[in-house]
Amino acid sequence: MSADRDIDGWLAERGLTLTETRARAREVLEGAGLTRQGKARMSEPKLLRAAELLTERFFPVCADPACLQVARASGREPLRVEPRSHCARCGGSANHRAEVAFLEACRRHGVHRVVVVGGSPAVREELEAKLGEHIALRMVDGTERRTADRAKSDLEWGDLVLVWGATELHHKVSGHYTHGPSIHHHKVVHVVRRGVAALLDEAIIHLQRGP
Ligand SMILES: [Zn+2]
Repeated sequence: MSADRDIDGWLAERGLTLTETRARAREVLEGAGLTRQGKARMSEPKLLRAAELLTERFFPVCADPACLQVARASGREPLRVEPRSHCARCGGSANHRAEVAFLEACRRHGVHRVVVVGGSPAVREELEAKLGEHIALRMVDGTERRTADRAKSDLEWGDLVLVWGATELHHKVSGHYTHGPSIHHHKVVHVVRRGVAALLDEAIIHLQRGP
């Protein structure tokens, strides 16, 4: 019994669905002698080698310019995938894209400690899960009382302080941060848009703008 598989179907499972993309992948597979022009099926052992070859040669990437930039810098050839869930940088998620871009910006600007003031418990958990391995985070519940002293120590500790006014945040709490000592003003970003992607995008813009 032959365990051959349809090559186009196999490529599609990897997000290689666009005509040019598929043609480029096939070209490389044909160049390596794994298949030849016009052949529609491939054996399982060859597919394993084909998978290795594609991983080695290509960086699967979506249409996002920031993803494309990372792909170009990878040393591998960028290969456009569709749907974007196959993108090796962002996995197709706006939040994930923003998280990756935020961490890149933090690295570039020497930001190691970030304070987030406000946001729902679920969002704080998500940020902790996605960013906590790479940077030190201090999450401040915007509905709990925070003394001026605690806020001052947060301002001193953080390289960046995100005050998230669109969400669960009492003015008494946010005021400690937005009206803190002027020496810390350059670190404080006041965000009024909702959503994790918006929060991190504003933080990136702030970092790019510089002090
Ligand atoms: Zn992407």
